[in-house]
Amino acid sequence: MKKRLGALGLRTIGDALEYRPRRYEPAAPELAISDLFGEDEAAIAGEVLSVRVQRARRLQLVKARIADESGEITAVWFNQAWLKDRLQPGTQVRLRGNLKGSEFTVRSYDVNGTAATADFAPVYPASEEITVKKLREVVGKALEYAGDVVDPLPAGLKTRERLPGRSDALVALHRPASEEQGERARKRLAFDELLALQVGLARRREGRDEEQAPPLGEPRDLVARYRELLPFELTPSQKGAIREIDADLAGTRPMERLLQGDVGSGKTVVALYALLRAVEAGSRGALMAPTETLAEQHFLTIEPLCTQLGVPVALLTRSVKHEVATAQVVVGTHALIQEGVDLGDLGVAVVDEQHRFGVEQRAALTTGRRPHVLHMTATPIPRTLALTVYGDLSVTEIAKPPANRKPIETAWVTEERSSAAYQRLRKHLDAGRQAYVVCPLIEESETSVARAAEREAERLRKGELRGYRVGLLHGRLKPEERRQLMAQFKAAELDVLVATTVIEVGVDVPNATIMIVQEADRFGLAQLHQLRGRVGRGAEQSYCLLISRPKEELTDAAQARLEALVRTTDGFELAEVDLELRGEGQLLGTRQAGLSEFRFTRLRADRELLERAREVAEELVDYDGPLNDEVDRLFGDREPTA
Ligand code: ADP
Ligand code: MG
Repeated sequence: MKKRLGALGLRTIGDALEYRPRRYEPAAPELAISDLFGEDEAAIAGEVLSVRVQRARRLQLVKARIADESGEITAVWFNQAWLKDRLQPGTQVRLRGNLKGSEFTVRSYDVNGTAATADFAPVYPASEEITVKKLREVVGKALEYAGDVVDPLPAGLKTRERLPGRSDALVALHRPASEEQGERARKRLAFDELLALQVGLARRREGRDEEQAPPLGEPRDLVARYRELLPFELTPSQKGAIREIDADLAGTRPMERLLQGDVGSGKTVVALYALLRAVEAGSRGALMAPTETLAEQHFLTIEPLCTQLGVPVALLTRSVKHEVATAQVVVGTHALIQEGVDLGDLGVAVVDEQHRFGVEQRAALTTGRRPHVLHMTATPIPRTLALTVYGDLSVTEIAKPPANRKPIETAWVTEERSSAAYQRLRKHLDAGRQAYVVCPLIEESETSVARAAEREAERLRKGELRGYRVGLLHGRLKPEERRQLMAQFKAAELDVLVATTVIEVGVDVPNATIMIVQEADRFGLAQLHQLRGRVGRGAEQSYCLLISRPKEELTDAAQARLEALVRTTDGFELAEVDLELRGEGQLLGTRQAGLSEFRFTRLRADRELLERAREVAEELVDYDGPLNDEVDRLFGDREPTA
């Protein structure tokens, strides 16, 4: 039993007390047997007069005659023959269920007491081995100790914020007198979590005040030349971002800034600016990307610019290792930060798609040195979440893409109209544009994904894309092959790139104006948004055609995803929809500090609570009390608070 409980995360009394009900049973009125009427759910209480097991075709029915002061009725259980022994004449029972003809069909029951049939009985996440009933028992026993629970909040704060005590909240969580009371209890417990998180983040912010990064002074000649070299004027958003970065870099307090911007909004241009600021100040800049493809893409973008500026640049991944000793800008994967690569003299580090990195990896980059750090993400997250997850970072948003950009037009078509989609794609090719075709998502090994992609490319070369130059990009290509392929596509020596999701991030070919995503219903919302961001990167109107199975075959969630993509190209709005469809904790994966530890918080419902926790946290930075245990649990060994 211990093991089975352990599998559900229930090891201590505290765990049991904090085991959150998934929901509560609705209330059902307790009626006298003679008052039962209609088929609405109701509860009855009485004594067993007799019991028997009856077989009806493949069913086993337990039938018990139940009496209260008003009358008698036959209660029926399905397929629970063993119950017969527990329902001996004279036993007191409370039953919930409903009238079916002249009999009472039992949905839940209690023998000698009230638990399962109670109004708002908690329904816990159960497992194959442990029933909800057993969990109620376990939690019920733990509740006897609820009074001993230490309240992490200072008393004054509780009074001021009008919060119930933690013990009371735990009792109300499991034994609420109403849905609202259960929800109030959950909120109090969520507040503790959010507060611990925010206190931890506030301490980290404060700890950073004592760290020193090299001040980089005012912008100089190199970045001025860089800005002139760019074939376009920076957008107001980009200029704003640069101003903020300049202000950060002038100081000795290490920059910890998050640059949020939708795909194609022009973050890389800003990132390179920051790297060059390090170079002109006599130190180095490094750009870290989560995948090799992405690192290579960044390198392809950055190298020509650096070369024109006379800045030596190196690529450093698992398979490509340029000499870094003389390079002033280094681009790479996290191989970059591992095993003895000497990046002494690092002035600015740019960390791309940082939510894909574990906290440890982020920390490793800055261990033993303290550069200014710019985090970039193309997965825009709602402000609430940004506050939660990146609460220790300053946030810059590139809200508007370059003005010459037209929003991508997205259409959703079902399979039977896919030939029309390809027709449209060929029109673009005939006009000298390029295109992507994204292969269906299959969740198998990288090898079988690659094989399926090869078959698909072959099929298209003979079919819909006959006569066009078709390249195939998948994760099994050697880095050298992949680089060559990308260079070819960029140089317009290929018309179409058939690809797996490896093109999700980083690929930047402005002449590619149309994309077809096959079996789009199988992709996640964020992923589709990222994929779509590969087109619409130039001044031309671009299109994204999502092909799916017939609507009737799709889940509601899949339909909602595709509809959202057709409706908007705003990554922030899509992130909200995604959050709604998938629930908290999922959006960013579970590796974020804190998020996966949340038991009670529901980010969408708890925005206000989060803001309050953030304010209150400022007062508690130096607070020394039981709240610290919770802070340690969240930030624990994984990251020092300073
Ligand atoms: P992100 O990194 O945010 O996805 P990029 O920096 O890669 O975006 O920019 C996407 C594309 O837009 C690139 O081709 C880039 O050259 C171009 N671009 C960036 N800034 C501007 C601008 N201000 N005006 C016009 N085009 C721009
Ligand atoms: Mg980019």
